[in-house]
Amino acid sequence: MTTKPDPLLDTLRACVGAPFVLAPDAPPPELEPYERDWRGRQRGRARAVVRPGSSAEVAAVVRACAAAGAAIVPQGGNTGLVLGGVPDSSGTEVLLCTRRLNRIRALDVANHSLTLEAGCVLQTAQQAAAEAGLWLPLSLASEGSCTIGGNLATNAGGTQVLRFGNARDLCLGLEVVCPDGAIWHGLSGLRKDNTGYDLRHLYIGSEGTLGIITAATLKLQPQPAAQGCAWVGVPSLPAALELLALAQRTLGPGLSGFELMGQLALQLVAQHLPALRPPLWPDWPYCVLIELSESADSETQMQARLQSLLQSALQQGCAGDAVLAESLAQAQRLWHVRESIPLAQAQEGLNAKHDISLPISRIPAFCAEAEALLAQTLPGARLVNFGHLGDGNLHFNVQCPAGADAAAFLRLHEARINALVFDCVQRHGGSISAEHGIGTLRAATLPRYKDAQALALMRQIKQALDPQGLLNPGRVLARPLPDNPPP
Ligand code: FAD
Ligand code: ZN
Repeated sequence: MTTKPDPLLDTLRACVGAPFVLAPDAPPPELEPYERDWRGRQRGRARAVVRPGSSAEVAAVVRACAAAGAAIVPQGGNTGLVLGGVPDSSGTEVLLCTRRLNRIRALDVANHSLTLEAGCVLQTAQQAAAEAGLWLPLSLASEGSCTIGGNLATNAGGTQVLRFGNARDLCLGLEVVCPDGAIWHGLSGLRKDNTGYDLRHLYIGSEGTLGIITAATLKLQPQPAAQGCAWVGVPSLPAALELLALAQRTLGPGLSGFELMGQLALQLVAQHLPALRPPLWPDWPYCVLIELSESADSETQMQARLQSLLQSALQQGCAGDAVLAESLAQAQRLWHVRESIPLAQAQEGLNAKHDISLPISRIPAFCAEAEALLAQTLPGARLVNFGHLGDGNLHFNVQCPAGADAAAFLRLHEARINALVFDCVQRHGGSISAEHGIGTLRAATLPRYKDAQALALMRQIKQALDPQGLLNPGRVLARPLPDNPPP
């Protein structure tokens, strides 16, 4: 069977060069890394995979697609967890991969800022800052693959949010290709600029639905002179919250990480990545990883401050046992265990992921209620609970009963599990997406939990900026059903 030639492919080849366009009849192993999502939940089919090498080439591709009425899916490192950056199965969406946009454009040491292209891998950006004696405090387990453009498009969180905020808080300026191919040159290193609407914040967290981020200026910090790390076994969730309050009181703004890990999350690491051996597991229902970073303290002072925190915590009963990292290598090992939980969970099999946030004070009540409901509704289902407790962000994931067929379990029960968890999140004043975004995975669910007026405003913004609806259609804002148009 011969397929009809697609004239758009020739136009795209003219925009970026033939080697940087993959046609749908390319060998499947070449297409797969772009068409399959990180979790292996979806394998889509792209009309073409196009890899521009400059902002001007991105603009040319966008103009060509707009002229042809072709939808575009921007993709960076393809580590997103909500199916926002992979094509659907229609074969009509052009996948625009940003990874060739990988130049560092400027590093302004005195201004503590770094300007770089959107396809730069986060780890490369961190290294560039470190080489100049500065620090980019954005850290995710996917940092070896995810890109700055993806981080900003999803307003990524990670393990340093407690002190430095989300990706949004680290961004000073953006360069964006708009849906008609025009370029907004907003790369500013300014910390203050009240000259009207702050467009940067529209694009950050818009998941590729309003424009394609091609470059960004990021805010850097002085490198901490010393970092210390402790791993603490806690007897309960309320105890973990007491420990957080104690750490905030005694460590002050130097507290840069406070991560929670449930017993089952650590069991999966022990089982699938045995070389990592989580400390204090399985003695406590939860473990907490505490990080302290200071620009002024010496290592010795740092250790002393953590020691004193741990002693108070043990005395007050909010810690059961603790391990203090005695070297940078030990601290890195502890972080490695924490960051390996998603990988260990992926190896255990598909699961229903919930990236939720709650007022920190409501976390114990939420967990008690959601766990009880789950146990009642689906006896044997396993709760893998871990996350950034200091930010009120839990990865509250539900795995099938041990030994069961994960895919079959999800097919049968995922919708019920999601409703149970998200309704409970809503009752406790939380959000159904803390840091991963909405993508297509949660687009149909969002209207049930998001304020109707907020959604109406979002649709108006989308309509105003992308009237043809060509950028990442159906992501964040679900496509209206034919018999159920949006109000
Ligand atoms: P992609 O997956 O390629 O895309 C994500 C979304 O952004 C898509 O909607 C895509 O269309 C859009 N997009 C990508 N690039 C651009 C661009 N240049 N312009 C416009 N839109 C664009 N996330 C967290 O927030 N915190 C975590 O702690 C965290 N841990 C993770 C751990 C693991 C092991 C994995 C696999 C993922 C984790 N994630 C986490 C999710 C993911 O890594 C982040 O969402 C990351 O920011 C995505 O970056 P990316 O370059 O891979 O984007
Ligand atoms: Zn996370």
